[in-house]
Amino acid sequence: MEKSVQNLHFRFQMYGRNAREWTRKCALLLPEIVRERVWEKKGFDSLYTYARVLAGMGREAVNDALRILGKVEGMSAIRQVIEEKGINSVKPLMTILNETNQEFLAEKARVMSKNTLEMYVREWKSNADVAACSDLPRTLENVEFPEQQAIVKMTITLDLDLEVVRKLEKLKGKDGDWNTLMMELLELREKILAQEKPEEKVTESRHIPAAIERYVIDRARGVCEFRACAKKYEILHHIQRFALERVHDPSRIVALCKPHERMVHLGLIEDEKIRPMEWKIMEEADESDPKYQVDRMVQRYRG
Ligand SMILES: [Zn+2]
Repeated sequence: MEKSVQNLHFRFQMYGRNAREWTRKCALLLPEIVRERVWEKKGFDSLYTYARVLAGMGREAVNDALRILGKVEGMSAIRQVIEEKGINSVKPLMTILNETNQEFLAEKARVMSKNTLEMYVREWKSNADVAACSDLPRTLENVEFPEQQAIVKMTITLDLDLEVVRKLEKLKGKDGDWNTLMMELLELREKILAQEKPEEKVTESRHIPAAIERYVIDRARGVCEFRACAKKYEILHHIQRFALERVHDPSRIVALCKPHERMVHLGLIEDEKIRPMEWKIMEEADESDPKYQVDRMVQRYRG
């Protein structure tokens, strides 16, 4: 790249970083500005005008800052993260944060990106639901289940082509039931997948052989395999860690979206050996697990 372009880019990046840092400092002063009604004393018609004119802060940023800083008052660990990474970095935590979990969640906010943290909070909430009602099935992401109510069956509406409907109706028959038919179709799919599974490959190359890659993506149907996640897969992940055991084993490679892959690398999955649909998120990483050391290294690379 041209030297002048590099230089322009470098300066822009540096100024931007500094601007963000100073805006963060402004936001942290807001509660005190409100208490002292500083804007009034300095002749501004409102706090919003004051923040916009002097710091370029929009109304929403001001409201967010006040709401979040008000909520975390007295929570020193969270406050520390806000000072380091800004108010937005802890925003996803607001619905689950309290005095007892603040230290624990502060640590999560420190190491996770905002995206990963959002996912983490979603899992946290759905685990709380499941704990409250052990019969509750795994939920689809966009389905809200009534709280505290045990549901073992669910009615859904499907948008199907007439041709598909006719074939399904025929297979079900007059006395059959949909659940049995659907189960049968699912089992057939599993059987075919088992037959088509390519051999594992021991190699020094990190590159996943094309046949294995295709198989894993087909098995996942291109969707993240983590529990009820409905996102498009982005990364193929070796659950045994390629660095520890140099093998591409289709049974031990899973398709994950980026936030869930990050969660895995933070060491937060209880047992990666079971199907990702059943994975559980732990509160703390198991640091004695050799995988954890590899993951720490991966994280350091990513910065
Ligand atoms: Zn996912």
